[in-house]
Amino acid sequence: MSHPEELRRELTDGARGLLARGMITNDEWLELCDLVTGSYSFAIEQRAAELFHPASAYVVLDQSGQQAGKGSRGILAFDAAKDAPLQVKYGEGGTLQAFTGPAFNYLSGSIQGLVLTMENGRRFTLVEVGRYLRGGEYVEAITDPDGFRLLLDMIEVAHEAGNVARARHLERRAEVSPFRVCPSCRANFATQYDCAQCTGLGFIRVTV
Ligand SMILES: [Zn+2]
Repeated sequence: MSHPEELRRELTDGARGLLARGMITNDEWLELCDLVTGSYSFAIEQRAAELFHPASAYVVLDQSGQQAGKGSRGILAFDAAKDAPLQVKYGEGGTLQAFTGPAFNYLSGSIQGLVLTMENGRRFTLVEVGRYLRGGEYVEAITDPDGFRLLLDMIEVAHEAGNVARARHLERRAEVSPFRVCPSCRANFATQYDCAQCTGLGFIRVTV
């Protein structure tokens, strides 16, 4: 869902039209609104989670590219003792915000993509180094393009063999990487080699 706000408006207007024409009852209208709100919340949470992942481990880089701290399971800890740790949580509208203080109650920054911007203007970049998969297994990020290519091939082999569980596991594994399948050619054999976006690789780098 690429435009959840638009879709929510459309669906809500549609349901209001049905109510106005007497085609649904007031209760049905409320039920529809709940459904729409539910899927909207899910969509924006998905969108915010696209890059930052609460189950991931990160290194925190300052603007000069020097390591300034580390993060794991939603907590960012800085190397400098004067910088208090932060907890990353969802705020209003599905945006990711960073909180500080003894109970992580004080808003002190926000995260867009993998860039943390503090209220005082300092900026940091998060680089994913690993992730706890469902089930608790920790895997390191695949930062080597050849390794990622190999993984894509393994996913295809698993799909061809009808091994859905293995394919799903490998796909989740592939998400722990700065690379994503190219959105233009979808790594499709027929179009990949002429693809301008990925220069024939079938995947692109989306983060640092
Ligand atoms: Zn491509």
